[in-house]
Amino acid sequence: MITNEYLKRVYDSVEKRDPDQPEFLQAVREVFESLQLVVDKHPEWEKNAIIERFVEPERVITFRVPWVDDNGKVQVNRGYRVQFNSAIGPYKGGLRFHPSVNLSVIKFLGFEQILKNSLTTLPMGGGKGGSDFDPKGKSDAEVMRFCQSFMTELYRHIGQFTDTPAGDIGVGAREVGYMFGQYKKIVDRFEGGVITGKGLTFGGSLARTQATGYGLCYYAAEALSHLANTSFEGKKVIVSGAGNVAQYAAEKCTQLGGTVIAMCDSNGYIYDPDGVDLKKVMDIKQKRRARISVYADEVPGSEYHEGRKGIWTLKCDIAMPCASQNEMDADDVQHLIDNGCMAVFEGANMPLTPEAIEKVLGNGLLYSPGKASNAGGVATSGLEMSQNSIRMSWSFEEVDEKLQGIMKNIFKACYDASVECGEPGNLMLGANVAGFLKVADAMMAQGIV
Ligand code: NDP
Repeated sequence: MITNEYLKRVYDSVEKRDPDQPEFLQAVREVFESLQLVVDKHPEWEKNAIIERFVEPERVITFRVPWVDDNGKVQVNRGYRVQFNSAIGPYKGGLRFHPSVNLSVIKFLGFEQILKNSLTTLPMGGGKGGSDFDPKGKSDAEVMRFCQSFMTELYRHIGQFTDTPAGDIGVGAREVGYMFGQYKKIVDRFEGGVITGKGLTFGGSLARTQATGYGLCYYAAEALSHLANTSFEGKKVIVSGAGNVAQYAAEKCTQLGGTVIAMCDSNGYIYDPDGVDLKKVMDIKQKRRARISVYADEVPGSEYHEGRKGIWTLKCDIAMPCASQNEMDADDVQHLIDNGCMAVFEGANMPLTPEAIEKVLGNGLLYSPGKASNAGGVATSGLEMSQNSIRMSWSFEEVDEKLQGIMKNIFKACYDASVECGEPGNLMLGANVAGFLKVADAMMAQGIV
């Protein structure tokens, strides 16, 4: 509950102004609940309307995206870019292509991104964008035409020193490639740092593809070691989703000694008690772009169950939700607790409902918020931009080592802030406070802008 008068007043005004943005309000509320432990120590924030400015995007852009499908029919989607906060660097944050995309979803993601990017210690502000376009079931040519049309408008708002998008749900290497190609054609400049997640032949970074999932496991390993004196070794793990984050989280956690027993897509989940064959999942998802159900058809001893929610009823030690926002509710957490689960590490952005978080924390499970534990993706995007600027490429090992260092530092920053706030080990609190302090400081220094 928000009890601090200043934060309550600002929250009420956000709610009044944007009553139809539930995801955004949910993200703001969670952050405010953490900030109330530090806001009294900073009277200058209220005097300078720091919190009011923090919740209001610097710029919101929506635009029409017309494109022609393979039948010659003209389709129209809506594009978004929310340039939320540039206090510590150019706006940075991914593009999501999914039918559920709307302004509330993009604003919540952009808002979270401000704090996440701050935690990475790299100079990146917060932004996010996307479209309600669904790449699923579209031909390559249709995806290309959509991406080109999307960039034909977006290009005028972005640039390596202004705003630098990347991928997210529905936007992988293929989409980034098409968008980069169109940007380059329009501006007639090879501006590598304008978008990250590029292919390796045109300025992409080794280990960027793996970075979010690997980073999640590096962060989780730190939390397990420092807060529970244990590791992934011998643990049964559920990883929801079967996309970029889920695949590489599952891969790293397996390398660290865990056994991934289940994964899902939005239709249903697979259960493989022997440990999911990740080569098979990657082949199904990356090459064949097929449904996860195909796995059970091809791997003896595994099962497919229709409906994604059942995944949380399986017995596991560690749960890593890596699919989408609000995918885990309080009932799901209750199943995990009943089955002896000890930790929930978020790979997706805001995958737990507020009630689910309350239950996780109330029952003493280890918990890391996505804005801290999935920050390895954007951190490595930052490293991709660094390589583009110095016109060099680092080896996989070099990037991976930097990523490990960054994730360790993020864990330490979250943990130290949780101690300073009097709740040692509350990493959600620590992430919100540590991320915000730097942004607030930069905003104070730059005056009323
Ligand atoms: P992908 O598009 O690669 O994969 C998303 C996966 O999640 C798909 O398997 C999709 O299934 C599944 N999914 C989507 N919605 C649901 C749902 N409601 N229930 C169950 N499964 C669902 O996206 P990413 O892996 O890139 O992103 C996953 C999450 O991680 C998102 O929250 C994203 O914001 C976050 N993230 C991503 C980063 C990155 O670098 N890519 C960085 C930081 C955070 P289906 O195919 O059926 O839709």
